Amino acid sequence: MKDAKVRLYVDHPLGAGQPVPVARDQAHYLFGVMRLSEGAQVLLFNGQDGEWRAEVTQAGKRGGSLSCLDQTKPLQVPPDLWLVFAPIKKARTDFIVEKAAEMGAARIVPMQTEFTNSERIRQDRLQAHAVEAAEQCGGTYVPEVSDLVKFDRLLAVWPEDRHILFCDEAEVGSVTAQLSADLRGKPWAIFIGPEGGFSDRERARLKDLPNAHVISLGPRILRADTAAVAAMSLWQHALGDWT
Ligand code: SAM
Repeated sequence: MKDAKVRLYVDHPLGAGQPVPVARDQAHYLFGVMRLSEGAQVLLFNGQDGEWRAEVTQAGKRGGSLSCLDQTKPLQVPPDLWLVFAPIKKARTDFIVEKAAEMGAARIVPMQTEFTNSERIRQDRLQAHAVEAAEQCGGTYVPEVSDLVKFDRLLAVWPEDRHILFCDEAEVGSVTAQLSADLRGKPWAIFIGPEGGFSDRERARLKDLPNAHVISLGPRILRADTAAVAAMSLWQHALGDWT
């Protein structure tokens, strides 16, 4: 069996014998950059049908075609965990989205808080980062990146049963709350604030929610990107698919 060196997300159904057209930008990557020719094999996933080995059946500069051979992985849907975070500087926001996708967030929600610097995001660019992260980490699922939503609007429609892991910098140095195992299997969201932190009003609003769990991430104030990775590690270890 040939080794498939390239792993690609495609927006197309996958299944035995299924032909998959190759768009211009992907043709450039597959046949120009990676120099694949007819008969070469690649791995495909689309976020729904698992991972499939496919063969190049037509390779051209402006497009081409692949044909699915066999399934190499079933769809692995991560636990129902959202990462809700306030966008920071561009490169650090990209980092948060990439790490959230790698670490198994089911959905990524950029949120505008009182002290958030940026008032807009490029959702399509962030979504592309999530796709790239899934391609490189072997995931078969791509978390949806939502449009930027205002804090109050998000909480106004917050589903009551969704638990919140509220990472509160005001708790720095307190003992980190344990996440008891009976909270496993429930819908969850991690909340990470911006560089300026949460405002007192936002802090009070979050703490008031029935399913909010306020935690400290240790004795030091972490940058928001570090905090996002730390919180996801903590959650995955206690309640997620690491154990
Ligand atoms: N400017 C704020 C301050 O000095 O208090 C710090 C904000 S911090 C850079 C960004 C976000 O990371 C916070 O809103 C919080 O969600 C999270 N965070 C950072 N360190 C934390 C800690 N030790 N405990 C809990 N959350 C933390």
